[in-house]
Amino acid sequence: MQQRKTPMRKCLGCGAMRPKKELVRVVREPDGAVSVDLTGKKNGRGAYICRSAECLKKAWKGDRLQRAFSCAIPEEVAAILIKEIEENDG
Ligand SMILES: [Zn+2]
Repeated sequence: MQQRKTPMRKCLGCGAMRPKKELVRVVREPDGAVSVDLTGKKNGRGAYICRSAECLKKAWKGDRLQRAFSCAIPEEVAAILIKEIEENDG
């Protein structure tokens, strides 16, 4: 599905609104599983973070992901996020 208007989402780290495709999406699927959604197509409640180590750190240390989803975030999700962001940062 193509959209002409760029969807904007808010980063959990710095709070800035950015085009969705510039952010990493973390999703809590209907069954409660939390995962990093690199395709942007998974169902569930999404939270977004800039591709920035700084933003990830802020979101993580402030428990903002946990709060956004009202559940614990598995370590492997953190590991994927860190990897994804480090590969794209700088
Ligand atoms: Zn940010």
